[in-house]
Amino acid sequence: MSSASYSLHGPVAVITLDNPPVNGLGLAVRQAIVAGIDAAAADPAVQAVVLIGNERFFSGGADVREFGTPKAMQEPTLLTVIATVERSAKPVIAAISGVCMGGGLELALGCHFRIARSDATVALPEVKLGLLPGAGGTQRLPRVVGLETALNMIVSGAQVPAAQLKATALFDEVVDSELLPAALALANKVVQEGRGLPRVRDRKVNEPNAEAFLQFARNTVGAMSKHFPAPLKCLEAVAAAANKPFDEGQKIEREGFLALMQTPESRALRHVFAAERAASKISDVSADTPVRAIVKVGVIGAGTMGGGIAMNFLNAGIPVVMLETKAEALERGIGTIRKNYENSLKKGKLTQDKLDARMALLQPTLDYADLSDVDLVIEAVFEDMGVKQQVFEKLDSVCKPGAILASNTSTLDLNQIASFTKRPQDVVGLHFFSPANVMRLLEVVRGDATAQDVLATSMALAKTIKKQAVVSGVCDGFIGNRMVARYGQAAHDLIVAGALPQQVDKALEKFGFAMGPFRMGDLAGLDIGWAIRKRRNAENPAEAKPNVADALCEAGRFGQKTGSGWYRYIPGNRVAQPDPVVEEVIVAFRAAHGVTPRQISDEEIIERCVYALVNEGARIVEEGIAQRASDVDIVYLNGYGFPLHRGGPMLYADQVGLVNVERALKRFAAEPGADVAFWTPAALLSRLAAANETFN
Ligand code: NAD
Repeated sequence: MSSASYSLHGPVAVITLDNPPVNGLGLAVRQAIVAGIDAAAADPAVQAVVLIGNERFFSGGADVREFGTPKAMQEPTLLTVIATVERSAKPVIAAISGVCMGGGLELALGCHFRIARSDATVALPEVKLGLLPGAGGTQRLPRVVGLETALNMIVSGAQVPAAQLKATALFDEVVDSELLPAALALANKVVQEGRGLPRVRDRKVNEPNAEAFLQFARNTVGAMSKHFPAPLKCLEAVAAAANKPFDEGQKIEREGFLALMQTPESRALRHVFAAERAASKISDVSADTPVRAIVKVGVIGAGTMGGGIAMNFLNAGIPVVMLETKAEALERGIGTIRKNYENSLKKGKLTQDKLDARMALLQPTLDYADLSDVDLVIEAVFEDMGVKQQVFEKLDSVCKPGAILASNTSTLDLNQIASFTKRPQDVVGLHFFSPANVMRLLEVVRGDATAQDVLATSMALAKTIKKQAVVSGVCDGFIGNRMVARYGQAAHDLIVAGALPQQVDKALEKFGFAMGPFRMGDLAGLDIGWAIRKRRNAENPAEAKPNVADALCEAGRFGQKTGSGWYRYIPGNRVAQPDPVVEEVIVAFRAAHGVTPRQISDEEIIERCVYALVNEGARIVEEGIAQRASDVDIVYLNGYGFPLHRGGPMLYADQVGLVNVERALKRFAAEPGADVAFWTPAALLSRLAAANETFN
């Protein structure tokens, strides 16, 4: 069992944490530390104890594998371990290299002395999970690094290099040499010099203007964390370190921790933390599936998406061959990439050297022969099956065996695209979101024939280019766009029923969306949806649905780019102004369709729009398009601006209670004139609601 080992180095006992991958403080480790301190106490030959991890991790904090299990709370808890260390009659020295985070840092703060390598990093990241450090971190850290530094660290959760804290009382020594010998030397020194058993808890927070600083900090932190209670709770705990005795402060910290544990915001953040890890796993592809080496990439199409996609690889140091059919399109595309980098240069986010290095990795071409040695090619040409066919037939004929052939299509059938090649096993969807160099989400679309190692390679590649990958099966719109279509439809039907775009937007923005659906439509351009509707209506006239936006588009109102859409815009200003003309268009639409408008509450707006997402998400899970409900949350949080503090549509539904969601859907379906198919609860939702279960 991995835990910690105990060894003797002359008069110094060394406890070495050994719990891969991050030296998490699981039960066995906690037991082993207490056992080590006890053994050292019982051995008259031992005069001091060194607590050390490995080169990469002193300790990453709590063992996430124990979250939600009885082991997490079982004695010795971390508080007990820290008390044991602190009360040891022989000095305990924490020797820190690599990452020292959360409970790891709290443990080190309970030791009598601390030595660190200068390249170690320390952090109290609990706030990122909507919590505060619950094992004395908020009380001890300010006592050694000062109020302001501690508060910044605890409220941001940021990792700070040990070198930066060298001058503080957090470290007795910061070294560049090998850690264990330096720690043993320090241990011998503190014994010989009789430096006793200094405890951080006995120090005072050194800050003459504590109250003034804290008041200023309250205002700033409050304004920055409006949807999240944790940062202010962190602040109050740190404040207690400054103005209350240690034990009282520790009590305030404990109460804050327990209160935050129960908040929906913390639940949401912890859900997202686990969901992101789960999303990278594919149930039927084992973790040890070999991946294909990707050292050179091709991108077809230098338009909006092609350019952004290429930048991801250039940023990661991977050479890109970019192909277009016409020289001027190619030049325009390369120019846009350069301009993007130049903007980063101006903002100080990139150096000229790096800019040059990235551009040097980019090889523009008009010739397919230049793709003969790429390991992966991503197609981002027009969204037209005929064009995709030409491109994939060509790729099939020039690319080397084993090259992965990917499409960035948003709506087209990936299986059909794969059928244009003689190697459908090598074809996968890599659906980036716009702007592709910025947005973190990547839908990895799995075709019927996509090989396991192609999927494994795609997931690994996502990590290389810092994307959050989620696997989706093949369907119209995949996970995200299929859901957003439902959301858009629900919002549209609300304005037909009696609301105005500004009311719908405001209600959803108050719920936490960064932008309501109509403002979002104006930003993206209403012409895109118009073109899709026209195509679909032509393909399937029986299913054609009239849309208020058609009249806007016919009048040339495409959104921000034309100065008007659902709103109007003053030139040079992106602020959406409600427009009486739009109201007239809506009124005419209602009259033409025999709708008598009614009053609609903000609550109904949120229920209809969000439950439309939940219901479609449930269908997506039920059909196996998404592997798990939490994948749906990750897609919607990362690609569509769903409020993070609500943890995604599926977790939100869990928190509301699936029974309540189902009842609302049934109510909407039963209304006169309702779109019954749209509002009928998904079978999965009804089944879970009946069993009083949740999606997650
Ligand atoms: P775009 O019109 O900006 O760019 C397409 C580019 O492909 C153009 O530069 C064009 O010259 C080039 N091209 C066309 N036919 C070609 C061919 N046969 N060979 C080589 N180059 C060719 O389009 P876009 O917005 O970048 O979209 C590209 C693809 O990405 C589409 O499949 C689209 O559905 C998908 N997509 C777009 C978005 C988005 O928000 N724009 C998001 C996700 C996915």
